[in-house]
Amino acid sequence: MGVDSLSSFCGDRATQACRVCAGGLGVTTVSAGEGPYRTIWILCESCGSWSIGHEPDKKRLDAFYSDYSGHLKLSSINPDANDGRRYTDAWRATREREYRLGIRDIGLVLNKSDHLVDFGGYDGVFLDVCRDIQPDLGRSTAVDYPRDETKHLVALGHCFEAIDDWLAGDELVDIVSLWDVYEHISDLPTLMKTLSRRVKAGGQVIVQTPRAHLHARLLGERWHHFLPVQHLQLPSREGILQQFDAYGFTASQVGSFGANAPGSLIPQPYKELFDGLAKEADLGSTQLIRFARR
Ligand SMILES: [Zn+2]
Repeated sequence: MGVDSLSSFCGDRATQACRVCAGGLGVTTVSAGEGPYRTIWILCESCGSWSIGHEPDKKRLDAFYSDYSGHLKLSSINPDANDGRRYTDAWRATREREYRLGIRDIGLVLNKSDHLVDFGGYDGVFLDVCRDIQPDLGRSTAVDYPRDETKHLVALGHCFEAIDDWLAGDELVDIVSLWDVYEHISDLPTLMKTLSRRVKAGGQVIVQTPRAHLHARLLGERWHHFLPVQHLQLPSREGILQQFDAYGFTASQVGSFGANAPGSLIPQPYKELFDGLAKEADLGSTQLIRFARR
């Protein structure tokens, strides 16, 4: 599917309720992006999350993500949120460092024999880091769209499952990670029902996702998580805790980090100061939550 033939990735059906808490949407909106990538988000008056203004065209989004590497640069208006750069080999070491830090900060313990599922596992780097931390994991499974980047996962000792197959499955698992993924999910209720069904009692779900909070309010469209087309919901902490609670999950630990201070614009030592303050004061632009299945 060629991008040029698409008029828009966001569908014609207007979003009526908050995609996170199902509460009523207000009148505050933010928009970003050009042409087919023009995207509007609406603030929820109940929980403070942002929802994409038109229900995404799932078919187009599926095509977009199944050929991610070919399309992503076109929609990344903000270079600091450019996944095209983030997922290159040159950034691998940075991502590994971030994953290790996040796993430590949120208190995720990887036990021997655990079956870990990385939903949206893409190139498997998160699973590589987890296997390095706990070499005796029972199984590590990447769930994603089948494409070139996923072919090598089995050779690295991971399993691979296509998204629809995993959502339809029923085998119980110990840990599911949604790392930089929640904000992209077009059908959240189906994912939530599947997590509810497939995560063992006492099992865990780890979420890393943008946090709708002060940054969005103060920066407006300059908040780098207003990423056209790709970010369908930007949850507040309150909203996402409420949503997971409704599906049987209790938060064990929460945290946040990042001051939306791009390294290309903010010189050191101020970048480190702003990021440090955001983390220490729990006012970060990205949130980490560890949930336990009741
Ligand atoms: Zn809401």
